[in-house]
Parts: sequence; structure tokens; C-alpha cells
Amino acid sequence: MRLTGVGVSPGVGVGKALVLKHGAQDLRFRIPAARVPREIDRLQEARTRSRRQIEQIKARIAQSAGADHAYLFDAQLLMLDDAMLVGRAAAIIRSQRLNASSALEKALEEISAVFDKAEDAYLRERKGDVADVVGRLRMNLRAAGDPADLFADLEGPLVLIADELSPSTVAQLDWQRLAGLVTNGGSWTHHAAILARSIHVPAVAALHDASSAIPPGALVAVDGSTGEVLVDPDAEMLQQFRGRQQRRAAYELALHEYSALAPVTADGVAILLEANLESPDDTERAKEQGAVGIGLFRTESLLAGVGMAGATEEMQYAAYRQLVVSMAPGRVTVRTFDVGEPQRRGDETPGGSALGLRGIRLSLGLEEVFQTQLRALLRAAAHGPLRIMFPFVSSVEELQAARRAVALAAATLRARGDAAPAVPVGVMIEVPSAALAADLLAPDADFFSIGTNDLIQYCLAVDRTDDRVSQLYQPLHPAIVRLVRMVVRAGRHRGIPVSVCGEMAADPLQLALLIGLGLREFSMAPTSVPLAKRVLRDLRTADAARTASAALRARTAAAVESGLLRLLAPLEVKRTS
Ligand code: PEP
Ligand code: MG
Repeated sequence: MRLTGVGVSPGVGVGKALVLKHGAQDLRFRIPAARVPREIDRLQEARTRSRRQIEQIKARIAQSAGADHAYLFDAQLLMLDDAMLVGRAAAIIRSQRLNASSALEKALEEISAVFDKAEDAYLRERKGDVADVVGRLRMNLRAAGDPADLFADLEGPLVLIADELSPSTVAQLDWQRLAGLVTNGGSWTHHAAILARSIHVPAVAALHDASSAIPPGALVAVDGSTGEVLVDPDAEMLQQFRGRQQRRAAYELALHEYSALAPVTADGVAILLEANLESPDDTERAKEQGAVGIGLFRTESLLAGVGMAGATEEMQYAAYRQLVVSMAPGRVTVRTFDVGEPQRRGDETPGGSALGLRGIRLSLGLEEVFQTQLRALLRAAAHGPLRIMFPFVSSVEELQAARRAVALAAATLRARGDAAPAVPVGVMIEVPSAALAADLLAPDADFFSIGTNDLIQYCLAVDRTDDRVSQLYQPLHPAIVRLVRMVVRAGRHRGIPVSVCGEMAADPLQLALLIGLGLREFSMAPTSVPLAKRVLRDLRTADAARTASAALRARTAAAVESGLLRLLAPLEVKRTS
């Protein structure tokens, strides 16, 4: 079977289908360092609950079948306290950063190996008892809201086929196990696609009924450049895909050479290239690709599984400090939570209105949550250059209220005797009103960062996650060119830096346009940095500016595009979107 969707993360991957239907929350995942203490607490809570349950069972059995039969459960109670089990799982959480359920499974494997070697048949049989206790512990972890091990019984590389993926589910996936991602809906700027690109997992979106059509366990080959998905391919087809895989790897290797080169245009203009990150553990990857800072840290991943109520000041502080320390001397720009109602509760279910209570609107309405995040950020700023950025700002009043919140958090910290360094506070320009009124926002902003993903969808009224209208999602639409120009002008007039952190910066053509419009700072998925360097090193800013002036007069996206194609023709670069 051959299906064709939209390639949203280039590359070729082959693996066994793992089908994730809506509501399935069984996942194996790695946790960020900051989540370790919480995961260990959850493990201990599961132990307490399990002990209570086993004691109840023991009492019931003793009553109905006699104390002789109840002794079996004494063994289980002892196992709960054995350092080789829960203690070992806690050590695995710490050292390997696995979620509690996966760590328990690993501990069980180790214990089973010991039992297997035992001479004594009675001892060998106790393996079943340990497995029973582990099963109970894991059940109790699930009861405590753990998305347990969906990947547990599966082997080898997997291709995840999902009908729907919420950002927090995406954040929790064990991406190391994934050779590919296939989704029923989605598009280039869907969060799942952005993440797939940032960690090099080939992905195809907009396959409509893929999650019904592809049977779990089928061999699936994904080409994230062409959008092709083969299900149970024959040997010849598979060979063809493997060939593409090798060519892609060679292309990426050649591109990687650019990661170490300076981001300077052909006429000597220095450009700042930073990375967009979702996890504080990914800074090494960003540096490896040649990014010198983090231009957008999406804090939502810290809420996965715990919700806003569970994201404590200490946990956030640890995550932000880790980011700042590992990127130093590069700067880190952290965006405050950009979530809607469902994620606020730690709910995996996607939904909530894209135009509703989200981003800065939600933060301003949840004073304690916002203050907690701001205190954690200000404390982390003592360890290196950090900037705070607000998402979804649509008016001056919102920005001013958010700045007052920062001042309040700083005052609280000082009253506590903690340091609260002054940090640059900026605005994401991603709502059309913010772009149109950028000159009015500028006096209260230390910097602007243009979020083109949302700016395009709201300006053009095209849902970025809906593949049925994705042909209308046009980053080169004249209205977008003009909006960007307005923001650049407002920033320049006020003397504040303006960067771009949306996906536009990752596409060679669009990057050239942005440079032509006067932008010099960009943040993108880490994997896009080498290609961006390759493009800008061959580009002369004067030529780009001429093309951008023509784009400002163009009447259609096609006209803007043809000007850029002419500009970049000598470079022979592959477009990414
Ligand atoms: C944007 O909107 O352009 C952006 C960078 O943020 P996100 O993709 O997280 O909405
Ligand atoms: Mg956005």
C-alpha cells in the first residue's frame, strides 16, 4: 500500500507501525533532569498505595482461606521494600532519566536475570511474584496519571502513526525509538512537525485515515521529503527507500560542514543564528548544529503530565538554570507558558480555542502560576544571559500588565533575600494587532521576536494545523511581507532588537526575504541552522534588499516567490517547505 501526504520533516525512515489512537496515553518517555525528584515521588506514592492494597488483600485472604494462604503476600510486601526493586528503579530514573514506569520495568529485567541464574526452582518461581508486584506498582503509577509504557512490548525502530498528537504527548514521546512519524492531520507548522524536524525524525502529515488504514506492527517506510508512506513494501521498494535514506544522510553530512562556519553574509554582515528548543536537555544538539544561543525556549514541555499546578518554582528554576548555564555565553530567550485551557490542567487532550484564553491572557489571569514562572526565570537569570518573552500579546495594556508582574516577582525575590537581576523583557509579535501596533508596543518592549507561525495563520485566517487549507498558508503573501516590514521599522525606530523565531527563518527563500527586509537575528529548529548558514554565506545583503523592495510592491505570493527564486538561483539550495 502506498499513501501520499505532505512531507513535514525531511528524511527517510523505516520501522514497525505503532498506532496511537486518540486518548491513548501509554507512552515511554525520557524526563528532563528537573523532573527527576517528582518522578521519584510518584514512584514512592505508588509504593505506598501498593502496600495498602496488598495488606488489604492479605487480610481478606486470611479471613476467607486462613492465615496459611496469606503468607504469600508477606513476600510481596517484603519485595516492595527491597532495595533491588523500588530503590533500583529510583536509581535508574536518576541515571537514565526514564519515567517511573519504564524504570520499574528495567529493574524487573535485572532482577529476573538474577533469578534465572538461580539453581533453586523455588527461587526461580519467585520471578512471577516480582513481576506481579511490578505490575501493581505500574498500575498505581497509571492511576496517578502516568502515561505508561505504550512502547514497552515493541522492538526495533518504530514508526508512530497517530490520529492526533497534543503538544504535551509529543513532548513525552521517546523519540529515540522513532524512525518516523505519520499523522492523520497536521501541517508544516504543527507542533509535532516542528519537533520532528528539530530532532531529525522524518514525518508525513495530512494522511487522513492513516491511523485506521495502517495496521499496528506493519512495516512502514516514510519519506518526509516527498510525503510518501509505504506499508509492507516489497523488497524492491524497500531497497529504493534505503537508497534515498543513504542519499539523504550524505546530503545532511555535507550540510553539517557549515555548522562550524561563521554566519556572515557574502558582503560581510554578521547574522545571529539561535535555536528553538523544547527541552532543556537539547542544548548540546543546538550547539552541535552551530547555534550560539536559544532564541525561543518553549516552556510548555515542562507542563507535560503535571499541568500548571505541578510546575513548581524549584522545578522550573532547575530547568531554566540548566539552559542558561549550558548555553553560556550565548543568551537564552524563554517564552512564558503559551498554553490553552486543556494543557493548563495537564490534560493530554488537544483542543481549546486558538483564539481563546491562551498565552499571556491565561498567564495574566492566573497570578500565582505566572508569578511562580517569573520568579523561577529571574532566579535563573543570575546564572547567565536570559531574556523573558511573552506570547500572544495583542495590546499595550497586556504588555504593561505583564511587565508589572515581572516587577512584582522581582520584589518578592528581593524580599526573600534572593537576587533578582534586571532582564530584558520582550514581546512575541505573532498576533496581527501586535504587528500593526508594533510602534506602540516598542516603548514598553526591550525586544521583539516575530512568531511567523501564528502571525501567518491569524493574518491570513488559515488554521496552521488544518491540512485542508494548508495551500492558503502562504508565508510569502504580500500581507505578511508588509507586516514584517512594519515590525522591523518599529524596532529600528525605537532602537530595540528584532528577531524572527517562526519557521520562516528555516526556509532558504524566506530567510533571504527576511534578510532583505532588514532582519539580522533568527532562531530556528537546530537542524535548520547549517542550511541557513549555507544560504546566508552566499547572499549579498544589498541584493536581498533589492529583492525585498520588489516584494513589498508585489501583488501576489507567486510574484514574491519568483523574485526570491531568481535571487537564490545561483545557490542551488533545496527548499525546505
Ligand atoms: C510562532 O508562532 O511563530 C512561534 C514561534 O511559536 P509557536 O510555533 O510555538 O506557536
Ligand atoms: Mg506562536
